[in-house]
Amino acid sequence: MILINSENLNSRSYSKIRSEIYVNIVRSIYSKTNYEEVKHELNKIQNKDYPVTILIKKILFHNFKEDETYEDFNFRSYFQAISFYNNAQKLYKKGNKKARKSFIGDLIGFTQIESNKQIEKFICCIDKISDYEFIDGRIKTQSSFEDFAENEMFISLKKFNRVCKEVFDYETFITPLRASLIDSIGIKFCPYCNEQSMYSEKDGTRVLADLDHYLPKSEFPLFESNFFNLIPSCPSCNRTLKGQSKRRIVNPLIEGFEDYAVFKMVDYPLKLANEHFDITILKKNTENHIIIEKIDNTISLFKLKGRYNQNHIKETARRIYLNTRLLTPNALSHYSESLEIPTLTTKQLYKHLFEIDFEKINLSNEYLGKLKLDILIDLDVELP
Ligand SMILES: [Zn+2]
Repeated sequence: MILINSENLNSRSYSKIRSEIYVNIVRSIYSKTNYEEVKHELNKIQNKDYPVTILIKKILFHNFKEDETYEDFNFRSYFQAISFYNNAQKLYKKGNKKARKSFIGDLIGFTQIESNKQIEKFICCIDKISDYEFIDGRIKTQSSFEDFAENEMFISLKKFNRVCKEVFDYETFITPLRASLIDSIGIKFCPYCNEQSMYSEKDGTRVLADLDHYLPKSEFPLFESNFFNLIPSCPSCNRTLKGQSKRRIVNPLIEGFEDYAVFKMVDYPLKLANEHFDITILKKNTENHIIIEKIDNTISLFKLKGRYNQNHIKETARRIYLNTRLLTPNALSHYSESLEIPTLTTKQLYKHLFEIDFEKINLSNEYLGKLKLDILIDLDVELP
């Protein structure tokens, strides 16, 4: 839910590791005996015939921002083809003839739109599926539909995915550099929950973090090693994410709750003393319905409301509220004396009272940073 600061992604160490992975993948393609075939397959996803070096860079560094997904590089056809493929697989299981017919109808309709011609490259028998009698014959029974979808309709997509799996293999290229990749991103707390530390408190070594695939690698082998698809997360969030359709939640490398949702204490100060107040999450008004849907899904998937109403988190909120009362006009001189720091700055005072480092405010590096900041803003505290 917390956007990972772009400064973290531009750090020298992170760029160095990304370059190393990129070079390893390019080298490995050049050494393949089926090099031409691999290049041909990868070039299916855009209109130009790119050199392999550029092609790999475009795939590894693609950032999934909607406008860039739809322009230049035709990832759109790929997403659509994968979505049709997944839907077809669901239909094998359901065995509903009417649903299968309507699915084929959607597929035909989609490929007839001029701007979607690219999808034909992923699906091998478009001509056949326009033939009503042919289709009707194939979807009559469960097994003939399954056979048709698996062995005819998606044959070229499956070949494409196989090549991607081979070229971008996570185990080969990312696993050996996984630990240093996570370290080089330099975030201290899990971006999905903003609560669990990525490092051991004792000696500062990274002990807890894992790398999560935002788009599951089983479904999207093209993005198996893409840098905007690899998200450091705590084991608890990583477990929650397994097997989920993650395109429907916020991707912390691209977007966060920052501009769209706020934590708020409810029923304070009335019920403050015994922690009977609630912490809620309010969404801001925006025309961007996609982000709101993703925020809702993120809240429910990670059970954020329950999680942020645990006693230890409420205690943090309560302390913030109580400490704002200490911000009197002579707080600075008072704390300068009691902390024995003659040059105490406002930012240092805030760090002492609220445990947020305003010298380098970066929510992904603060324990419950988003919650703390939202409470301060809600309480009309002037930020340093
Ligand atoms: Zn987490």
